[in-house]
Amino acid sequence: MPARRSSLETNIDTLRQLAFDQTVRWSGLNDDIWRSLDAELWELTHNPCLVLNAVSEQKIGLMLADSHFHTRVTEVAEAHREILAQPTWFEREHADTALHQVAYFSMEYMLSEALPIYSGGLGNVAGDQLKAASDLGVPVVAVGMLWQHGYFRQEIGAEGDQQALYPVNDTRQLPIEPLLRPDGSLLRLAIQMPGLTVWLRGWQATVGHNRLLLLDSNDPANPPPVRLLTGELYGGDVEMRLRQEMVLGIGGWRLLEAAGYVPEVLHLNDGHAAFAVLERARSYMQVNKVSFDVALTATRAGNLFTTHTPVEAGFDRFPATLISKYLGRYVEHELVQPLSAILALGRQRGDDAGELFNMAFLATHCAGAVSAVSRLHGETSRHIFQPLFPRWPNAAVPIGHVTNGVHLPTWVSLEAEAHWQALHGDDLPWRGTSESRVSDLVEQVDDGQLWQLREQARALLFEFVRTHLARSEAVHGASLEVIESAGQAFDPHILTLGFARRFATYKRPNLLLLDPERLLRILNHPTRPVQLLIAGKAHPADRIGQQMIRDWQQFILRPQTNGRVAFLEDYDMRVARHLVQGVDVWVNTPRRPWEASGTSGMKVLANGGLNLSQLDGWWAEACTNEVGWGIGDGAEHGEDYDGVDAAQLYALLESQVVPAFYERDANGIPGQWIRRMRASMAALVTQFSADRAVREYTERYYLPAACAYRLRAGNGSQLALQLTQDHEQLRAHWSGIRFLQLEMQPHAGRYAVTLHMDLPGLSPSWVRVQLYTEGLNGEEAGIFDLKLDQAAQADGLLLYRAEVPDDRPAQAYTARVIASDGAGLAVPLEVGLIAWRD
Ligand SMILES: *Cc1c(COP(=O)(O)O)cnc(C)c1O
Repeated sequence: MPARRSSLETNIDTLRQLAFDQTVRWSGLNDDIWRSLDAELWELTHNPCLVLNAVSEQKIGLMLADSHFHTRVTEVAEAHREILAQPTWFEREHADTALHQVAYFSMEYMLSEALPIYSGGLGNVAGDQLKAASDLGVPVVAVGMLWQHGYFRQEIGAEGDQQALYPVNDTRQLPIEPLLRPDGSLLRLAIQMPGLTVWLRGWQATVGHNRLLLLDSNDPANPPPVRLLTGELYGGDVEMRLRQEMVLGIGGWRLLEAAGYVPEVLHLNDGHAAFAVLERARSYMQVNKVSFDVALTATRAGNLFTTHTPVEAGFDRFPATLISKYLGRYVEHELVQPLSAILALGRQRGDDAGELFNMAFLATHCAGAVSAVSRLHGETSRHIFQPLFPRWPNAAVPIGHVTNGVHLPTWVSLEAEAHWQALHGDDLPWRGTSESRVSDLVEQVDDGQLWQLREQARALLFEFVRTHLARSEAVHGASLEVIESAGQAFDPHILTLGFARRFATYKRPNLLLLDPERLLRILNHPTRPVQLLIAGKAHPADRIGQQMIRDWQQFILRPQTNGRVAFLEDYDMRVARHLVQGVDVWVNTPRRPWEASGTSGMKVLANGGLNLSQLDGWWAEACTNEVGWGIGDGAEHGEDYDGVDAAQLYALLESQVVPAFYERDANGIPGQWIRRMRASMAALVTQFSADRAVREYTERYYLPAACAYRLRAGNGSQLALQLTQDHEQLRAHWSGIRFLQLEMQPHAGRYAVTLHMDLPGLSPSWVRVQLYTEGLNGEEAGIFDLKLDQAAQADGLLLYRAEVPDDRPAQAYTARVIASDGAGLAVPLEVGLIAWRD
């Protein structure tokens, strides 16, 4: 038992600290402190800052004078302080390393419903990883945008028409504080756009040990249209997007520095913020008095780019004319570069004037490492980034992966957690520092207890569903009768499927509707009925997505659905949390390989929910027969395959999912279902947690990146200068490489290889001469380095030798030259030069 910190005063600041920290989880177990200040407001908003603002200081003072309230606040605050005071994983494992600060850039963050600056999956990944970084003690400072309207809010009209609403995020009601300079003045900074100085304000949110810095352009010094640059997330045209990305990338890096951060590592969560690599290099140039090339060589080693889209159309791309208009001056005066050089960084073929400027290409060309977000997405990404590595074999395209994960404390219901605690004690495996394992936990409880948890979770879900539906009806002006009967047909004992996602074509949110009569038969089975909860937004410009919402609404209005299907308006974090905590089965039906990772299905795992999903993204690497159900054959197909996938989905429901749920023993317990729950929890909860993902990012990317950056930047950028020169020499002389005679003599089960080379202008130490052979039967390719025969040099020609296996004909081997990575250049990410003897 840690010592009670009674010396710490409990006052209004204590409440404020709790209200502002995005890692505090509010639920029935601790939210009584807000409830007792203003129950109605709390229930409606779940925003503690709002409650604090709404209640007078005098009333708060009086409440704190009440010993019961005072004790409760003290308890909640101490519980939180204890969490923050625990020694962290990073302190234990990596304290004495080169890594002191990671800067994480993302267009959106999903941290809590009190801070609505997110749209969906990308923000979820950013928010969950930021919280996990705090739990683990990884020093991450995040940078994002304070969207004045966030993403649009959704209302569904009677016919199923989606209305997009844009309520204002009032900064005084958000859990953020203005960033101040040391002298107490507001931190404002400027970036240049053509003919305009754009003023940006800085804000800060607290995420446990870490901070999220936010920018907005709503400064009265800006003309009104400029004030609205940070208005809508994913709103506006391509020019608006470019302006926003300048704010995030260039403004973001300046904000970091102005706030006193000196990161070694820059992690780009998607390409939106890729201009940050330019600003980072610019700042480095200025501080270290080096050229842009040297600055980029130094800083690149510390840049990590995580790509999120599995299709090329998902990349942000801008016409060169726009880049020239907005960044021309900056490039010429600040980076001291010809525009063509910067344009080339965003292109596949630098000199192709017609090619759009691609933010993902910019990020890749300026990164020391690139990662995808699931194993399958890694493969897909190696294909879509292949054009940046012409003539390299696909397997060599330098894109790794860290599969996404979810922040368990955010998504596990506290009510369920209280049960676990009663059964198991305090050391729950989804708490940051725990040593216990989920598999042990689920072994310790019997079937009856596990089932009890599910039954309770489902009941809580339907309480929420009824309130949510009734409110929607009321807002739409329905009659009292309709309002009061909203959701009453739902039965908390019936198998409940949940299904929430962006209504984008590739997610196929209407796959279940392909045969509506068959779906009705599933829902209305006389002894084994099913209920279905749906939610999701379609982008306001996406007409097809909006039609799919209408299709569902039309289906729901059919009397034959018997009130067993509902569409929950305005899918957000709160709706998501209730759904993932309560449903029995999460359904996800993207068209493979379009779901880069997906995270919503991971959120049900620790709550005991099961997945029935397309073998795409994370589920392609998680699904086995023991843990859930997979749709699809693990291959890619076109639209014409939708019918096959739908038929399989219905068949799985009819023949496996539904029967397993209703097959009960004498005590009413579904033994087979519970076996699956146990297997799913034991195998997947930890594996698909943000905790695991952040540890992987830290150990595989952040730590090496921090070392590499320090190495290049140290000693007056000595190594960066050297590498830049080497790289220039390589480029200048590469086309002079000549492969001369190659001989392969069979010799004692090997080939003895000799190869004569001419490498005019190149030092042999800068290159690797290799033999390459395709792998047999899908195995990895064979790559063999040839050694320079120092004794045999004549006429400037070089003789290389090697011995290679003779398990294939000599013609199956091809000689090639690539740059040497010996001095630390990343090959082929940084130096993609390759010459083949062909
Ligand atoms: C988890 C979550 C997402 C991401 O869902 P995917 O189906 O994995 O794309 C999107 N929106 C909200 C509100 C979420 O909670």
